[in-house]
Amino acid sequence: MKTWIPDSRNFAYLNWKQVEALPRDATLLILPTAAIEQHGHHLPLATDTLINNLLLGKALEKLPASLPVYALPPICYGKSNEHLGFPGTLSVSAQTFLAVVRDLGASIAAAGFKKMVLYNTHGGNTSLVDVLARDLRAEFGLRTFSLSGSGGLAFDGVSAQERTYGFHAGEVETAFLLYAAPELVRAGEYTTNYIARVDQPELLKPEGSAANFAWLTRDIAPSGVLGDPTAATAENGGRWVNEASARIAEILVAMYNFEPRHGA
Ligand SMILES: [Zn+2]
Repeated sequence: MKTWIPDSRNFAYLNWKQVEALPRDATLLILPTAAIEQHGHHLPLATDTLINNLLLGKALEKLPASLPVYALPPICYGKSNEHLGFPGTLSVSAQTFLAVVRDLGASIAAAGFKKMVLYNTHGGNTSLVDVLARDLRAEFGLRTFSLSGSGGLAFDGVSAQERTYGFHAGEVETAFLLYAAPELVRAGEYTTNYIARVDQPELLKPEGSAANFAWLTRDIAPSGVLGDPTAATAENGGRWVNEASARIAEILVAMYNFEPRHGA
């Protein structure tokens, strides 16, 4: 798999004596979680994994060299059962995902580390990451953090419709790959599907509202795309990578410095 993680920030490139010498109270260890799943006719299965690595790698480049912050090897397989039925989707169950991350948290705590970040770029993992962040805190006393996608960056120039319902293989993901790995994008194969419209407010939404319906991609998007990639450009992708990675770098510094505040 391609990587943008600087070698000096790659935890798995250390030997155990180097790990033993890290300031274990202060070191921030980041576990990337993503997916190998269909992304329409135009993007590769590894899209979420590549974007995770790209944004995290560029963010780590921006950190002061003195900060002990390391990326663990990613969990490339996620809970992707919404995309089953499309050849190439490789999904693990919620139970498996929870068990693997929990066991890695146990190893990290056993080695004496205190701070762990779950950095997720696949929507199907989001609710599991939320559960894990609290459970790892409760079970092992780890100071855990969750971080997702672009760190909350609002992508300028994206329509309200795409911003709200461009869930998967749409403009932003396509732009990231056009910028970073254009040889993996089949630009003549774009398709568009929207699961809901911002200008037609229905009571039941696919996600993010008080009343949601559960969806499977194959029910509502025959090509596998949930969004519209047609406006994607490498130029926007490059700008968004810079902005998102700067924001993620800021967030990582805040996590490194974090001390919980007790109410007065
Ligand atoms: Zn994706």
